[in-house]
Amino acid sequence: MSFEIDFVSDDHIKREKEKARSLRRTHWWQNKLQKGTCYYCNREVGRKQLTMDHVVPLSRGGNSTKGNIVAACKECNTQKKYLLPIEWEEYLKSLAEST
Ligand SMILES: [Zn+2]
Repeated sequence: MSFEIDFVSDDHIKREKEKARSLRRTHWWQNKLQKGTCYYCNREVGRKQLTMDHVVPLSRGGNSTKGNIVAACKECNTQKKYLLPIEWEEYLKSLAEST
């Protein structure tokens, strides 16, 4: 198994960030915020605590598609940013077990 990381261009990131910005204005996104639930931990945190998160980060080749964008609470978002992918998997598993 190879762990080769594909090169992601700045252009890709710029373009996808732009798309994410326009998605913020859609009803689809507003509805997600309205629910106030974090995609990862399923806690009801309220819309103010929710942030837009890419399941597959743009820096790893993810896109700003509805399938790749979720509403995450600040706590999960921070964890995701600082944990290694493998540690993030562990974190998700521990969330699943605690519910
Ligand atoms: Zn969360």
